Amino acid sequence: MLAANAPPRYPRNVRPTHPAPPRVLGWYPPTADPLAAADGPVLVAVCGAHGNEPAGVEAALDVLAALHASRPPARGRFVAVTGNRSALARGVRYVDADLNRLWTDDAVRALSDHGVRSARDGAGDLDGGVEAAEQSDLFATLSAIMGGGEAHSGRVSILDLHTTSAPSAPFAIALPTTPNRRLLAGVPLPLVHGLEGRLTGTLSSWLARAGHAALSVEGGRHGDASSVRHLVHVLWLALANGGVLDRRDVAWAANAAALRTARAGRPAGVTVAYRHPVGRGDGFRMQPGLESFQRVRKGTLLAETHAGPVTAPLGGVLLFPLYQGLGDDGFFIARRIDTRWPHGAPQQEGQV
Ligand SMILES: [Zn+2]
Repeated sequence: MLAANAPPRYPRNVRPTHPAPPRVLGWYPPTADPLAAADGPVLVAVCGAHGNEPAGVEAALDVLAALHASRPPARGRFVAVTGNRSALARGVRYVDADLNRLWTDDAVRALSDHGVRSARDGAGDLDGGVEAAEQSDLFATLSAIMGGGEAHSGRVSILDLHTTSAPSAPFAIALPTTPNRRLLAGVPLPLVHGLEGRLTGTLSSWLARAGHAALSVEGGRHGDASSVRHLVHVLWLALANGGVLDRRDVAWAANAAALRTARAGRPAGVTVAYRHPVGRGDGFRMQPGLESFQRVRKGTLLAETHAGPVTAPLGGVLLFPLYQGLGDDGFFIARRIDTRWPHGAPQQEGQV
C-alpha cells in the first residue's frame, strides 16, 4: 500500500531531472503525418496536463508500442501528445498556473486571434509564466490536428488522461454531448457530471463545447500501476469507438471486462453538488484514508484547516479528496444519478 502522498512513478524518459518530454509522444500508423489536419477519424491522447500525473504518458507509450508491434489496419490516426511538458520534467502539478484551468473562452479567443507563441523548453513566457507558453504550444499542436480549430464533429476525439491524489476507481468526466456519448458507448466507466460549472477553463470542456468528442479520464491514484493499466484499457476501447481501429483489433471484451472489475460497486453516474475551495494559507489537511466514490454523511469530518474542522455540508459520494500540496479543490460531493447520463440531456439513439 503506497502512502497517499507517495511520489509518482516516472516512465524512462519522464524523470523530473530530465529534459521535458516531446510534445508529440508518438503516433500510429507510422505513415501518418501526426500534425496534419484530420482527413479521417483521429484519437488524440493528452498526457500529463498535470505534471505529477505521468500515468497518461506511460499508458499512451504502452498502447503505441503494442500498435507498432502488431500493426493492425487503421482507418485514421492515433496521436499522443504531452500536456504540461515543463511540469512533467519537474514532476509537479504545475509551475506557475494550472494548465487545466486556462482554457476559458477569452483565453482561447486570444490564442486564435493573436496567433501562438512558441514554447521555450521550460523557460516560460515573459508575460504569462511557464503555463502560458505550454498552453500556446499545445493549442498550436491541437489546432493543427483539428484543422485550424474547426470542429470536425465525430472525427477528432480527445482523451485528457489524469490521475488523482487519493485512491479511486477509474472514471470519466464528460459533458453529455452526442460525440461524447458515442466515444464512451459501452465503455464501463462511472461518469461524473456537473463539474464543468464548478471548474472553469478545463481543456476537455473547451474541446467538447467546440463540437469534438472530448473528455477527461481519471485512471486512479498517482503512482499506482493499476492507474496506468486503467488508462490503457480506456485508450483501446476509445480507439475502436473513435473509428481508428476495428473492434476486433482492440481486445474489446478483455479491456471492457478489466474496467468493469475496476469500477465494481461504483454508481453508473454521479452529478457534482458541492465543491470545497482551498485557498493558499488555509492550512487545509484532508483527513487520512478517504477515497473517491466513498459515501459520506452530512456532518462527516473531512478535513482540518487553520479555521477549524471541515465537515461534509451534505451527504453523498466523495470525489477528489485532496492529498497533494498544489490544487484549489479540497474535495467534491456528488449525488448518484443511477444512470450514465443525466436526465434531460440530449439523447443519442442506440449509443448508450
Ligand atoms: Zn490531473
